[in-house]
Amino acid sequence: MEHVILVRYGEIALKGLNRNYFIELLAKNIRNTLWCVPSAKVKKIQGRIIVNVEEEDLKLGMERIQKVFGIVSVSPAIVIDSDMKVIEENAIEQVRSAEGIKTFKITAKRGDKTFPIKSPDLNYRLGETVLDAVEGISVDIHDPDLNLWVEVREKTYMYHEFLKCNGGLPVGCSGKGALLLSGGIDSPVAGYMMAKRGVEVIAVYFHSFPFTSDRAKQKVIDLAKIMSQYCGRIKLYVVPFTEVQTKIVELCPDRQTTIIIRRYMMRIAEMIAAKEGAKALITGESLGQVASQTMEGLGATNAVANLPVFRPLIGFDKSDIVKIAQEIGTFETSILPYEDCCTIFVPKHPETKPKISEMIRSEEAIAEMMVDMMATAVENSEIVKL
Ligand code: ATP
Ligand code: MG
Repeated sequence: MEHVILVRYGEIALKGLNRNYFIELLAKNIRNTLWCVPSAKVKKIQGRIIVNVEEEDLKLGMERIQKVFGIVSVSPAIVIDSDMKVIEENAIEQVRSAEGIKTFKITAKRGDKTFPIKSPDLNYRLGETVLDAVEGISVDIHDPDLNLWVEVREKTYMYHEFLKCNGGLPVGCSGKGALLLSGGIDSPVAGYMMAKRGVEVIAVYFHSFPFTSDRAKQKVIDLAKIMSQYCGRIKLYVVPFTEVQTKIVELCPDRQTTIIIRRYMMRIAEMIAAKEGAKALITGESLGQVASQTMEGLGATNAVANLPVFRPLIGFDKSDIVKIAQEIGTFETSILPYEDCCTIFVPKHPETKPKISEMIRSEEAIAEMMVDMMATAVENSEIVKL
């Protein structure tokens, strides 16, 4: 028997003229995520995408597909001939083999108008057939234990599960964005949220070896790997940041270093974005969460960026962010206790209301040497593809 996964898309169906492009992109993203399921074949049919898989690959296939953005729901289904006798036999079999059910309902949909039996009649006939054949069962059209969907098209699709997915838009349809990815809880969630809006994410991690260890770097790689299940392939830049950071700490006023470091992170991320054709920066900042994330702090960080900066978590409480991190599977990795470059050299009294003019004045001491240092950092970045 042929097994498929039926894939339903929502919002993308609304996109008018771009519709075909969106569906094509979604199908491509599904194909990419199924690289580890060799038996899978992705096809488009009217209003749906269907994925053929061997029965033993069904579970893995479902797991992977459910994480792809742009999908509203999926159903594992069997595919049979659109022949009434075959349909009846399979309906009986499906109800009979469902464990522990007392009530059922048939929801038939005739998509192929050349099929001689109309949907309401199909419901009725299949209901009768199943009632006659299966003992101890009755029909409940309002709240059945099992709702058996029968979609008659060129072939007939039969299924009883509707599994909700994450929705959103297919990754890639909104262009590319450069995510500043630390090893913390917030930035992986921020990347996830922008990918959900169709952004292809590249990631930039600032690594201050030996102040931040190889384990800290590995943690970021692991986070990017988890994210890639949702975001698709991620190109991660590991930027050697030690020189830039130590110069800032050495030559700028203590209270301002946190924000100045941030400003240089943004500048370098923007250089990488330009190289990669990314049109926005993404951070995990949330208003008021830490001293550098006051309105003034965000303003001072923002001032050096020419690209739009997306901060999808700006209005989120930490507990809301944690909840998403747990759902998407990044939390456990994020809380591993390895140092981050922002937590080393933290000033005793960080500036919470930095003035942009003062930042610019303080940066004068380093601005010239930074031109080369930033270029070197970008050039010497290690690229990890996930
Ligand atoms: P996160 O949990 O994402 O690390 P956080 O609450 O710890 O966030 P900060 O450390 O102040 O907050 O960082 C704010 C944002 O700056 C992060 O969400 C991330 O986008 C960026 N960022 C911080 N440190 C790094 C780093 N080492 N490499 C890349 N981006 C960073
Ligand atoms: Mg952090």
